[in-house]
Amino acid sequence: MKVGLITIGNELLSGFTTDTNAAWIGQRIGEVGGVVIWHLTTQDSREDIIRSIESTPEDVQVLIITGGLGPTHDDITATSLYHWAQTETEFDEDYWKELEEKFKNRNVTIPEINKNQALKPIDGEMIQNPVGSARGIRINKNGLDIIALPGVPAEMKAMMTLSVIPLLDENIHNPIHNQTLRTTGIMESALAEKLEPILRETKVKLAFLPKLTGVDIRISSADTNEISELRDAIFHAVGKYIFGEGDILLEEAIGKLLIKKNLTIGVAESCTGGLISDRFTNVSGSSVYFHGGIIAYQNKVKITELNVKKETLETFGAVSEETAIEMAKGIQSRLQVNLGLSSTGIAGPGGGTDEKPVGLLFIALAHAKGVMTKKFNLTKKRIINKELASQAALNMIRIHLTRD
Ligand code: AMP
Ligand code: MG
Repeated sequence: MKVGLITIGNELLSGFTTDTNAAWIGQRIGEVGGVVIWHLTTQDSREDIIRSIESTPEDVQVLIITGGLGPTHDDITATSLYHWAQTETEFDEDYWKELEEKFKNRNVTIPEINKNQALKPIDGEMIQNPVGSARGIRINKNGLDIIALPGVPAEMKAMMTLSVIPLLDENIHNPIHNQTLRTTGIMESALAEKLEPILRETKVKLAFLPKLTGVDIRISSADTNEISELRDAIFHAVGKYIFGEGDILLEEAIGKLLIKKNLTIGVAESCTGGLISDRFTNVSGSSVYFHGGIIAYQNKVKITELNVKKETLETFGAVSEETAIEMAKGIQSRLQVNLGLSSTGIAGPGGGTDEKPVGLLFIALAHAKGVMTKKFNLTKKRIINKELASQAALNMIRIHLTRD
């Protein structure tokens, strides 16, 4: 099923509001096997709304519109739509009573301007809004199924889930299936190069979706056998970089591995300032394996809390492989855990030298048989460096746990 999308709102065009509705709708439509093939953002103006509807490509079967269904003067989607479809409206007494009741329950008198929300088209249906007062509208005109929803994300999502998706689901006969393989620790170009022989052979649609901390590979096809064949081939070629499938997070994938191997972990963080611990604790149930961490930001704390030797700090510096190793061992013994993970680096923008530039990072992982370390040269940007360092640290655990 081919879906078109128009998001309406001056605030979307001026950049004051990010169009998260479009991203969310695109994903939900994809999940049920449809595809958004066209998307346009337009102003709160009748002319622009009508011009947008008229420019919908012919192969679009369902047109979803969001925004401009509120009660205020700038909410003109409904009237524009009725005008374009040349449909009359009538006042829906029942719905008005319902609205009055809703407002009364909240101890407020319903403003007169809400009256326009009780209008309904003669040749169309209304879509229930379980969260707010603006109902959605469904009109079929010239073979195009048009569904208009409010712009407030929570309302739009509730209505999509409750009414629109089930409606579309029924009409999708040849669904497109998607499979996402999540990678980290390899650049998009290197990944593409390794997969080039496979890509040359296949007709299946494959997309590389690079993010700051990794690249997702998305396979799309109407044929599930084709997807699983290509998936297997990709695993064969670059499996060591794949940490999971679907929308799994790296911290979730690691949690599963730690549980499977019955291992516990503690973290000693310097440059990541608690971010690694934050990510571990984003996973429900992580206390089974994640025992805790120490943010040892100052040298003094590295010495007193993690048992890092003063001489190590003086000889090699706080940002060094030697310090990273002592931090990892320190937390491992202090918390009596199987694995001790540490991070130390120069996040920037200040603090770099020729010898130790901004972006220098050391990660260490103390395990039962020794310590694994890795040096990285990240970027010049502080927040990005913290994010990348937490990813590199988590990925080191994954590499260690999948090795033996
Ligand atoms: P509206 O239905 O146009 O009255 O929208 C109400 C509020 O929802 C706006 O003030 C925005 O904050 C938000 N909103 C509208 N459209 C979108 C969109 N496409 N993505 C995210 N938020 C939106
Ligand atoms: Mg608006």
